Amino acid sequence: MGFLDYAPAPESTSILNLKKSYGLFIGGEFVEGRGSSFATISPSSEETIALVAEASDADIDDAVKAARGALTKTWSKMPGSERGKYLFRIARIIQERSRELAVAESLDNGKPIRETRDVDIPLVAAWFFYYAGWADKLEYAGLGQNPQALGVAAQVIPWNFPLLMLAWKIAPALAAGNTVVLKPAETTPLTALLFAEICQQAELPSGVVNIVTGAGATGAALVSHPDINKVAFTGSTAVGRNIAASLAGSDTRLTLELGGKGANIIFDDAAIDQAIEGIISGIFFNQGHVCCAGSRLLVQENIHDDVMNRLQSRLSTLRLGDPLDKNTDIGAVNSKAQLERITEIANSGDSEGATRWTASCDIPAQGFWFPPTVFTNVQTSHRIARDEIFGPVLSVLTFRTAEEAIAKANNTPYGLSAGIWTEKASRMLAIADKLRAGVIWANTFNKFDPASPFGGYQESGYGREGGRHGLAAYLEGGSWKGGAK
Ligand code: NAP
Ligand code: MG
Repeated sequence: MGFLDYAPAPESTSILNLKKSYGLFIGGEFVEGRGSSFATISPSSEETIALVAEASDADIDDAVKAARGALTKTWSKMPGSERGKYLFRIARIIQERSRELAVAESLDNGKPIRETRDVDIPLVAAWFFYYAGWADKLEYAGLGQNPQALGVAAQVIPWNFPLLMLAWKIAPALAAGNTVVLKPAETTPLTALLFAEICQQAELPSGVVNIVTGAGATGAALVSHPDINKVAFTGSTAVGRNIAASLAGSDTRLTLELGGKGANIIFDDAAIDQAIEGIISGIFFNQGHVCCAGSRLLVQENIHDDVMNRLQSRLSTLRLGDPLDKNTDIGAVNSKAQLERITEIANSGDSEGATRWTASCDIPAQGFWFPPTVFTNVQTSHRIARDEIFGPVLSVLTFRTAEEAIAKANNTPYGLSAGIWTEKASRMLAIADKLRAGVIWANTFNKFDPASPFGGYQESGYGREGGRHGLAAYLEGGSWKGGAK
């Protein structure tokens, strides 16, 4: 061990009080379900954490009936101020149990405890506090004097921010007076099940929130259930497209938050050391499993070599390993399947002629890992410049003029996020105006706030989550008027 090495500082799992197996949360109770069960594992150790029920079609039907019953009997009859009290109570319990939730999320997902503790769980609480405040103020949402809830919402979320995506879905839905059936991702159901316990602890009326676990087939059964008024989906563009096709012509409302291939643009007048930190948080935060990641770095040609040198020396200090260790920067890739996808697309970078650089770090023997990787000499036609990798892999392109940067940044079927680094505010605003992306960060990256709407253009989906826009997605008359910018 060298002079500046860190001793291990693992967060204890003794705070967890997990069951060996979990049923489905339907009508305020955990029920066994009529399907089989599956294991959720820790991607850093490959050990089983718990067994989880796989909801059958009949279970989904029960969950939708429970949500419909709660809507008509209790939730829609309750004044907004009362709904708000439940949401405030949930937010406070999340804060009280934040350490436990952070440990559970790191264990089940593989992301570093530093991130779950300082980013995921504080944002989850913030989302519930924010929408709790809206529950009795719906007449100010801009949708008329007495906006009405849509009804029962079917919500399907991915594995990259499991509890945060749950909060993005459930908090606005409940504030607006809807009831929900939510399916977490197959590989990360744990914190959604702990959230079900929190609903019980908060004495939320039974059936307002229902959690059904399972894989893709369970998600498909949920979104195609005939008694659903709204579908909210976050996940891949391929699955989003299927859902859109299956709902076409029905009056079920739909919002889709899909993939991205965000451009992070560095001009030669930027504060380079800050930009290096922004590049790293843009693509190496959460192992790059971030839909709005800055996965394409566009760097002005005259500073390319300087930026690459500084980036590589900074990346060499990042620590990959045990997600529960408080010193860890890069955790485990969420699943074997995702590791295979990342590996396959990265290999196409080699075969298409880009130059690979990899941070040298020890890869643990167990679990799924991919070291921080940077590709230079990338052409816009390369797969690594076009396809979403959803892993810790950065593709670097260069530009000479602002016009070229804009053209390259917009050269994507997606349109979720972008970043601009320059000291010149007029250039910042002029360029932001020409980028086709739902979120544009200025001299920062991957910053989130519940009051700020988030969502995409083109193949990144439609609808907005967060802010007043996110509330409108759960109210009559609040359909998102998307379209080209
Ligand atoms: P995915 O395969 O589309 O899965 C997302 C969710 O949909 C999971 O719960 C999944 O269940 C379920 N599902 C799978 N097939 C389904 C079907 N036919 N009908 C209904 N539900 C179905 O996506 P992923 O690979 O897990 O997640 C990564 C993707 O999500 C990336 O493309 C990323 O960009 C995107 N994402 C977008 C945002 C955003 O806000 N825009 C945020 C995070 C992630 P199983 O997990 O059990 O298969
Ligand atoms: Mg897991």
